[in-house]
Amino acid sequence: MSIVKRFLAAAGLLLAVAAAPAHAALKVLACEPEWGALVQELGGPLVDVAVATTAMQDPHQIQAKPSLIARTRNADLVVCTGAELEVGWLPVLLQQSGNARVQAGQPGNFAAADYVRKLEIPTSVDRSQGDVHAAGNPHIQTDPRNIGTVAVALAARLQQVDAANAAQYAQRATAFQQKWQAAVARWTQQAAPLRGVPVVSQHKGYVYLYDWLGIKEVAVLEPKPGVEPSAAHLQEVLATLKATPARMVIYSAYQDSRPAEWLGKNAGIAVVKIPFTVGGTDGAKDLFGLFDDTVARLLAGASPK
Ligand SMILES: [Zn+2]
Repeated sequence: MSIVKRFLAAAGLLLAVAAAPAHAALKVLACEPEWGALVQELGGPLVDVAVATTAMQDPHQIQAKPSLIARTRNADLVVCTGAELEVGWLPVLLQQSGNARVQAGQPGNFAAADYVRKLEIPTSVDRSQGDVHAAGNPHIQTDPRNIGTVAVALAARLQQVDAANAAQYAQRATAFQQKWQAAVARWTQQAAPLRGVPVVSQHKGYVYLYDWLGIKEVAVLEPKPGVEPSAAHLQEVLATLKATPARMVIYSAYQDSRPAEWLGKNAGIAVVKIPFTVGGTDGAKDLFGLFDDTVARLLAGASPK
């Protein structure tokens, strides 16, 4: 065989190998980067994942663009947070897609928040005041124990919608849980010094993180979830800290850092940016990096200068 022929034969083989899984892969649309990363962990080459939002976007405030509708149209499975996080855009995507498989209540529609214990479920709700957490706090991904719980339900769902590959999903799920539970134990131990540390949050985005690590939220910069911090409210928070001091003020990568920086400067406390989801910082390249980096940043913020 000539060199050229051998090269062509090898290239043909490569093309065949590359084309096969792409053809068979389950098409998944994830609403947020953390669920896209989790589907990738659990599905590997069996899934073709698109993610609707990036870590630099507020998942409460997304436009239902035509490109997203097109992605929803050919999805076999849609994986979102639920708990009304995507209430402003996901119903439009689902409706406009005309895709019967991914409508609410179908096996192709998975809402992560259905599988974890939700915090801050309000007893009475007034949406007219702009509260975007009317169905309880939707930011469940900030506690890695929730990710582990969601992974169990998501693996079962992948096996249901792609039954031909059920055994492989089961195997991947077991391997992921072993790695994940070991990592959670390590993060919990590393973060022990954060127990009882008082903090201020820019958005009520971290109640699950605080619940996990025993961090104490003493004030929030947004007067209500989703309502921009006003100058008057920032002054109130500053006054609160005189009686109830905090060690740091925490904001997410996608947010305007100015309110947190203003408070940090005026209260003389650390300002800590956390990734919030996969891709929020250079360190948060995957789900493991997300918590490696979050814990490291919180520990740095809590340590005395
Ligand atoms: Zn929120």
